[in-house]
Parts: sequence; structure tokens; C-alpha cells
Amino acid sequence: MAVRLAQKVDNIPLIQSLLEAQQSSFELDAENRDLKAEIARLTEVLSLKGRVEFKAGSYRLTEGDGEERGPFCTGCWDSHRKLIRFSRLMRTAYVCPVCNAQS
Ligand SMILES: [Zn+2]
Repeated sequence: MAVRLAQKVDNIPLIQSLLEAQQSSFELDAENRDLKAEIARLTEVLSLKGRVEFKAGSYRLTEGDGEERGPFCTGCWDSHRKLIRFSRLMRTAYVCPVCNAQS
């Protein structure tokens, strides 16, 4: 709306400043969304941290009801704080579907 008004009065420097301000606003919105996503991810990591335990070559997660989940990839948790469930290769062998680590 402000841009249209500036166009009506044919004020090119004002139009340019308004467009730059609009671009900055879009960039701040994108940065704000990224930061909110990162806060959500870190909050999730914090909530998991005390419940993740190393056992027999992989990580296990103990839920609030005491039930254990896993096994999860050690490399993905240690390097990226992502709990990636191993896929079973054979009876006692597992592979991470993200980094291909085996346990
Ligand atoms: Zn992995």
C-alpha cells in the first residue's frame, strides 16, 4: 500500500526505500521461522538428553512410562542430536537408514 502511494506521487527514492524495507521484512520473517524451528529442535533435544542411554553399541530412549525405545544410531545422536532408529539387517545386526552405520 505504501509502495502504491509512493508510485502515485512518482517518488522513486521513496519507492526504492519501501521496496528495500519490504525485502528486509521478508528476510527477517524467514530468519524468524528458522530460529523458531531451531528452538523447537533444541527443546526436543533437551527433553531427550536425560533419557538417552548408551547400551550394547547403540542408544536407547526411556519413555515417561518406563518403556524403552530403540536401538538408535550413536553417530547420528552424537554428531547431529538426531535419534535415528536402526533398521534390522539380520537377527542381531542393525544399520542406520541415514548414515549407514552398523551395529
Ligand atoms: Zn546414523
